[in-house]
Amino acid sequence: MINKKKFSSTVKDFINDDFLQKLISDSKPDKKAVTDIISKSLNKQALSVEETAVLIAADKDLTEVIFEAARKLKREVYGNRIVLFAPLYIGNKCINNCAYCAFRSSNKEAVRRTLNSQEISNQVQALEDVGHKRLILVFGEHKDYDAAFIADCVRQIYSIKSGHGEIRRVNINAAPLDIEGYKTVKAAGIGTYQIFMETYHHESYRKYHPANTKKGDYLYRLDGLSRAFEGGCDDVGIGALFGLYDWRFETLGLVSHALFLQKNYGVGPHTISFPRIQPAAGTILEEKWKVKDEHFKKLVAILRLAVPYTGLILTARENPQLRREMMGFGVSQIDAGSRIEIGGYTDFGNQQVKEREQFMLGDIRSLDSVMKELIEDDFVPSFCTACYRLGRTGEHFMEFAIPGFIKRFCQPNALTTLMEYLVDYASEETRASGLKLINAELEKIKDEKIKAQVKQRLKIIQESQQRDLYF
Ligand code: SAM
Ligand code: SF4
Repeated sequence: MINKKKFSSTVKDFINDDFLQKLISDSKPDKKAVTDIISKSLNKQALSVEETAVLIAADKDLTEVIFEAARKLKREVYGNRIVLFAPLYIGNKCINNCAYCAFRSSNKEAVRRTLNSQEISNQVQALEDVGHKRLILVFGEHKDYDAAFIADCVRQIYSIKSGHGEIRRVNINAAPLDIEGYKTVKAAGIGTYQIFMETYHHESYRKYHPANTKKGDYLYRLDGLSRAFEGGCDDVGIGALFGLYDWRFETLGLVSHALFLQKNYGVGPHTISFPRIQPAAGTILEEKWKVKDEHFKKLVAILRLAVPYTGLILTARENPQLRREMMGFGVSQIDAGSRIEIGGYTDFGNQQVKEREQFMLGDIRSLDSVMKELIEDDFVPSFCTACYRLGRTGEHFMEFAIPGFIKRFCQPNALTTLMEYLVDYASEETRASGLKLINAELEKIKDEKIKAQVKQRLKIIQESQQRDLYF
């Protein structure tokens, strides 16, 4: 019997391992089928799990076609913007014992720490002083990190200002809450609530998450974001930790989850994350399911095609070369200038300290150098937070995520937030190339009225102290 109080009204284990496994073994490379499915996706229709499995089966030649289609779809749905954020680790106490994570309770080497409010303030100021506007707060699972504590952190962070610096959107990556808990964090004004399923494969889930731990309950975690919707959080992020089981299965799991939320709550996830396992203090994992770069690129391109309107997040776990290469074909958000030690934005200079972080990062370049590279590659880095602040989330956001919306809102907001960065924080070199990019992007705006409005706002930012002029 399912305990109704503990779960959402739609609770169901919608992952059928045998079904997904059979799709993987039965799907064969088929050029006609792949081409048809790509056309459907380019018409901005979400794909079914079966169709996604056909793309997964594509051989090398067809994979190139998939990459090309993903690039095209990204340009059409998201334009050339890349949204930037930074993670802020609040505390690493944890009651769970996930085999891959340095925060697990059995890791006695871990230095346990929770930021106090002065320390949060110092971290946030350091982030604001380099130009960040969007954060994701990360927590271990512990009684000290309940919904009220998370909400307090969020409220405090919104109130911290440093010069022109402020955090305009705070997302959360923390343990699944109960419905009341989601109401509490929603009231504090959170952006996205992210929970990664880690692995959708039941047997592997059991292997990595001991049964006697809270996280050992597969169904409670799978249901976590359904409860979020029922607690009023309609902006959620799903993810899988790639490397625990077959990447093909996890990709189908993610698509199944996105479709389940879409069907039951009228909205799919706002974002999908696909972290790959990184070395972590005291962890030794088998290499069997390690995801090679070629498969990683393929799965991201396939996700782009399968869920056209869902943002895809590529984190600094990956190295700079791969991040640069993958930016074009599907990714819409990245973190930059990230540090994941507790206190890492002020305490350890440019070093990574293994005993103090959850895992090792692959890209620890500064925000400014990532900005410079994006600009050189003709991407418009964006710190836009307008949609969620104007209530354009969930169902409403889907209404707006139609052609024309990007031109009216996203691109203009990307340009004004980029200008804020260039004026307030950029190095000389980044500023010079950024200003050139803004001029080139202005030329591309066909609607003269919008162009004039954007130009006027850019001028205000350059010539006055006014900021945060969003459409
Ligand atoms: N403790 C909460 C939980 O487990 O949901 C919240 C966040 S946990 C600190 C953030 C995510 O980091 C996990 O969901 C997992 O996917 C990822 N992670 C853990 N260990 C990792 C590793 N060794 N390499 C890469 N990502 C890892
Ligand atoms: Fe704790 Fe999350 Fe790490 Fe698991 S992944 S040990 S729940 S912090």
